[in-house]
Amino acid sequence: MKRISRAAALAAMMLAAGASARAADNMPPAQYQVLSREILKQLIEINSTHANGSLVAAQAVARRALDAGYAAADVTVLAPPDHPTKGNVVIRLRGKGRGKPLLLIGHLDVVEANPRDWTTDPFQLVEKDGYFYGRGTEDMKGDDTLVLTAMIRMKQEGYVPDRDIIAAFTADEEAGGDADGVQWLFAAHRDLVDSDLVLNTDGEGGWLKNGQRYFVGVETSEKLYATFELETTNKGGHSSLPRPDNAIYQLTAGLQKLAAYQFPLRLTDTTRRYFTEIARLKSGPESADMLALVGPAPEAAAARLSRDPVQNAQLRTTCVATMLRAGEGESALPSRAHATVQCRLIPGETPEQTQATLERVLGDPGIHVSVDGPIDPSPETPLTAEVQTRFRKAVDSMWPGVPIIPDMAAGASDSVFARLAGEPSYVSSGMFTDIDDVRDHGRDERVGVHAFYEGGEYVYRLLKVMAERP
Ligand SMILES: [Zn+2]
Repeated sequence: MKRISRAAALAAMMLAAGASARAADNMPPAQYQVLSREILKQLIEINSTHANGSLVAAQAVARRALDAGYAAADVTVLAPPDHPTKGNVVIRLRGKGRGKPLLLIGHLDVVEANPRDWTTDPFQLVEKDGYFYGRGTEDMKGDDTLVLTAMIRMKQEGYVPDRDIIAAFTADEEAGGDADGVQWLFAAHRDLVDSDLVLNTDGEGGWLKNGQRYFVGVETSEKLYATFELETTNKGGHSSLPRPDNAIYQLTAGLQKLAAYQFPLRLTDTTRRYFTEIARLKSGPESADMLALVGPAPEAAAARLSRDPVQNAQLRTTCVATMLRAGEGESALPSRAHATVQCRLIPGETPEQTQATLERVLGDPGIHVSVDGPIDPSPETPLTAEVQTRFRKAVDSMWPGVPIIPDMAAGASDSVFARLAGEPSYVSSGMFTDIDDVRDHGRDERVGVHAFYEGGEYVYRLLKVMAERP
């Protein structure tokens, strides 16, 4: 044991006491910690995968709001008539009517989880080693819980915001979705979700790096999701008499060219800001390369950064072959070969432009390229000074000085439907997670217990700040 002086020991004790007092300031009142844990447990233990739907979860959320004192008229459970199990619930906290409401969106559905892959039961809330485990803890029943708890706390405290605060908990955001709740509410029940500012807590938020607070990310845009089908056809024949023309060889020759192709560097307002600001948190060649991206000759730096798939996705449109089907029988020359190519487009690029690029790269008019389904454009929501200031105020009240950095999601979220409906939308989770250990959609999904409770206090403060009118 190391000997320390009395004075040093006293100072250390005071420091520890001060630190824990500060940490306690960042926690919600005990009753709301208990409540949020109960709600999280309830939601995790309602299986709301695509096959099961989210109606039961929506009803549970509604019951909580009603029990907390919300009027029945301000709690609406609803599902599309042709998808009755895809339940949504919309809760409205009445304000002073100063302008359009603030809207919170969060999905209630989760992706499947195979219990055999997990070390805990994915549909039970398990607290272990300082974490809550369960499917949806990170994506996104943890965040739903924090928003619902904040809505309940504001109601019980008699808080009346300047404008209404609406929280919509919705269906079918995840893959396979055919009744996306946000899309449907905007199309069929606009009056329930009409707002001029949308917060979506489905995504990254606070990041930890080596246990330290790194930055708070605010997604202002996302890449556009577009799937293309590639097809070759051939007159076929008997496999005993092969010819040079062959539907499989023709298609795969094109795919090899696509594999070797890299779409051009394309930065947006958001990614320029992202790289400039994230560079300050880094050092050495990586930081220099990020700064060079916004300089006069970015190509060499972009090429080095692109070796990392995560950075590459920020720098350009990507397209990748994900499925292949071909041939009719083992002794028949194939009359058809078919590939699915999945693309994520930088905002501003159109599917038509991407298709033209694919056709040029494939370099074979015999490979027929078509786009799969209607493509929703994905406009960017600029991070305005006003919104940045509001985030700053909420973050500084909890964690003074932690950087707030706008970024673009490589994946897709429900914010695209809010933006399409003309409502600016920002995506930012209330919880800090480890940037090197993201588990959403994966096995042993989890959130830190402390990060969860602390996130509850942050979301409560953030909602109040965002709802303020000058
Ligand atoms: Zn999600």
